[in-house]
Amino acid sequence: MPLDSALPHAGDDRRDTFDVVIVGAGPGGLTAAVYASRARLATVVVERNTAGGIMAITERIENYPGFPEGISGFELAEKMKRQAAQFGADLREIVTVAALDRQADGSWVVVTDDERIHTRAVILAPGVEARKLGVPGEAEFLGRGVSYCATCDGALYRDKTVAVIGGGDSAVEEGLFLAKFASDVYLLHRRDELRAQKIAQERAFANPRLHFVWNAQVRRINGEEKVEGVDYQDVHDKTVTTLPVDGVFFYVGQIPNTAFLRGLVELDQGGYILTDDRLMTSQPGVFALGDARAGRIKQIAWAVGEGALAAIEAEKYLDTLGCPVSIETPRCDSETTAPGQTPKKE
Ligand code: NAP
Repeated sequence: MPLDSALPHAGDDRRDTFDVVIVGAGPGGLTAAVYASRARLATVVVERNTAGGIMAITERIENYPGFPEGISGFELAEKMKRQAAQFGADLREIVTVAALDRQADGSWVVVTDDERIHTRAVILAPGVEARKLGVPGEAEFLGRGVSYCATCDGALYRDKTVAVIGGGDSAVEEGLFLAKFASDVYLLHRRDELRAQKIAQERAFANPRLHFVWNAQVRRINGEEKVEGVDYQDVHDKTVTTLPVDGVFFYVGQIPNTAFLRGLVELDQGGYILTDDRLMTSQPGVFALGDARAGRIKQIAWAVGEGALAAIEAEKYLDTLGCPVSIETPRCDSETTAPGQTPKKE
C-alpha cells in the first residue's frame, strides 16, 4: 500500500525497480526510509504486517528522546511512517519477502508473495517476534487466555487475574500496563532477580496489584474451554503449584525473523544477522539493522541510529556499484551508465 497516493512511485504508477528495498517497517526500517528517500534514492519498504513492528504494539514508550511525556508505540510508528512518506518512500504492507536473488550484474531481485522487485541495494530490518515457551496448553489456549500482546488484549482482563511470564523489560513494562485493568497481576520469573531496567523494577515493586513469584518455572497452562490456571514448579524444592488465573501473557524473549535469509547471509547461532561495522552483511549490497542484527542492545533509539547508518552506507555503496543494466531509477539513467560506472545524479 502506498504511503501516500499523491507521492511519486505510488498508486497506478507502481514501479518495480528501486535503488533501495528496505525489508521491514519497524523504527529502524522507517528511519532508513527517511534517510534513503531524502538522499533521492528510489526507496520502497516492504512489510509483512503493518508498519511499526513490535514498537507499534508497545503501550507506552518513555525512553525515546523528544517525547518527555512518553508516546504510544502506535503513534510513534504513524509519525515515522508519515515522515518517510513525505520524502517519497513507498510502503507496501502485508507483503512477505520470500527470497533475495543476486543478479549477475550485482543487483538484487527481492521476491515477495506477489511481485519481483529489482533493486541496487537491500536493507534488512525484519525485526523479531515473541519467543514461545513451548509448555503444554500454550499453543492450545492461544486467543483463549494465552497472549503475547498486552496492548492488544489487556482490556479483556478488567478486574480479572493474569499471569505474566518472564523477568525482562517486556514482562515488567507490560505487567505494569496490565495492572491498569486486572485486579491482580502475578509475575512468574525463573530467577529471584529481574533483568528489567531499574526504573521499571521500582514501579513494579511499588504497584500493589503486581505480585512476584520467584524461582518459578512454568510447566503447563490449564483449563477446559479457556485458561483457568498455570502450573509452575519451584526451581529449588521442585514442588508444583497451580495458580488460578484468567489469562497468561508470555514475555520470555524474542527470536529474529530471519528464516528467509538462511543460506543467503551469514547468521549467528541464534539466527541473528552478522554485519561489519558499516552494517553490510556477508552479501555485497545487503545491509542489516535493528533487533534482528547480532548485537547486544535492542532499543528503539538504537535501531533508529542503525537505520540512519544503513541508509548512509547503502548510498555510499551505490555510488561505487554504478548502475546495473537491469536497473532504471532517477539515480540510474541506463543510457549513460553501465555496471561499475558512477551513476549520473539528478
Ligand atoms: P529478554 O530481555 O530476553 O527477557 C526475557 C525474560 O524471559 C528473561 O527474564 C528470561 O529469564 C526469561 N526467560 C527466557 N527463557 C525462559 C524460559 N525458558 N523459561 C522461563 N523464563 C525464561 O526479552 P524482552 O524482555 O522481550 O526484551 C528484549 C529486548 O528488548 C531486551 O534487550 C530489552 O532490553 C529490550 N526492551 C527494551 C524496552 C525498553 O527499553 N523500555 C522495552 C522492552 C524490551 P532470565 O532473566 O533468567 O534470563
